[in-house]
Amino acid sequence: MLKLSGKIIRIHAVDVSNERTLIKVSTNRDLPAVLRKELAYLISDCEIPTGFAHYLLLEKNQLLAEELPAGSDFSILPNDYDYIGDKDVIRLSSDRQSIRVLFRATSPNNSILLTEQCNNYCLMCSQPPKTADDSWILDEVESLIPLIPKETRELGFTGGEPTTNPDRFLKIISLTKSYLPRTAIHILSNGRSFKNSNFAEKYAAINLPDAMVGIPIYSDDPTLHDYIVQARGAFDETIQGILNLKQLGQRVEIRVVIHKLSVQRLPELCEFIARNLLFVDQVALMGLEMMGFTRANLDELWIDPIEYKDILSKSVSILAQYGINVSVYNHQLCLVNPDVVPYYKKSISDWKNEYAPECHTCKKRRECGGFFASGVKFGYSKQLSPF
Ligand code: SF4
Repeated sequence: MLKLSGKIIRIHAVDVSNERTLIKVSTNRDLPAVLRKELAYLISDCEIPTGFAHYLLLEKNQLLAEELPAGSDFSILPNDYDYIGDKDVIRLSSDRQSIRVLFRATSPNNSILLTEQCNNYCLMCSQPPKTADDSWILDEVESLIPLIPKETRELGFTGGEPTTNPDRFLKIISLTKSYLPRTAIHILSNGRSFKNSNFAEKYAAINLPDAMVGIPIYSDDPTLHDYIVQARGAFDETIQGILNLKQLGQRVEIRVVIHKLSVQRLPELCEFIARNLLFVDQVALMGLEMMGFTRANLDELWIDPIEYKDILSKSVSILAQYGINVSVYNHQLCLVNPDVVPYYKKSISDWKNEYAPECHTCKKRRECGGFFASGVKFGYSKQLSPF
């Protein structure tokens, strides 16, 4: 698992008044001087160009700090961050002596957190919501977007619930359209804000060229859905949100996390989607991530995927028969039936994707999506059968 944040060994900055500094990384020593002033140069050898705003060294290269131009700001990072490269964007906190990697230019899995606040309280939330004012994150995202390379193919927005502050969310979407017009945008939302037709219209009016809103539904039974998300009335608001978005021509993906509660009526939910929401753009049936609240509610949620593999086959078949674009995410290839394989996607973000010790001899490891790192650590099916 890639380490995206943590302590740094040393930060030396002339101006330490800034709590947090957002900065783009460069490995290009030939940049014009005017551009260097905005960037952090990642040092790899003793030929160190002058004029960069900041310099980054890995622990293994820290002796090179002695070669730096006098008075330079620099940080020494643990070797865990040796994956950092050209055009990545990082946040350095001089007061906390820490780093967070916010964007990796070579990764297809960049997801930007907009807030940790949420109006749902899902039993399996991998990022449990917080109530504290975190609008500084929105300020930071507004500074981050212009730093992201224009050629970025995909970018996600997530939370919490990213629409918690509707005006700031819309501002960020507008900004994204201006700076990243060719980037595919995926927004993970519980959909409830879009029940407000005025908000949905404002979102649609921005007219992002390539955007999808991923919205979860966990049951066709409103009571069960509301129980899973721990919010009364959420089902009705989510469905209304989806209807509003589709009426406005927006792309919507329905996401279903499969666990012991949602699997009870998974085929019925797929029938419900097929009969009532046939116009959605895709449906993703997803495995459980062992993070956050899931671990606290494990007895209520955990079911070995091998136990529901026939239910999964039936559910996929219902959606496919109606012509719905269906995908199976976050599952292991040896735990699904062969009829699910055409819909199977390797979906776990690169930075948290791992394989179990049993997988080492498997001939289909390359085709298999493997596990969340948390799954390998905290529990997974004991019935893996390597190919
Ligand atoms: S043994 Fe491991 S790599 Fe092979 S299919 Fe199963 S989970 Fe995937």
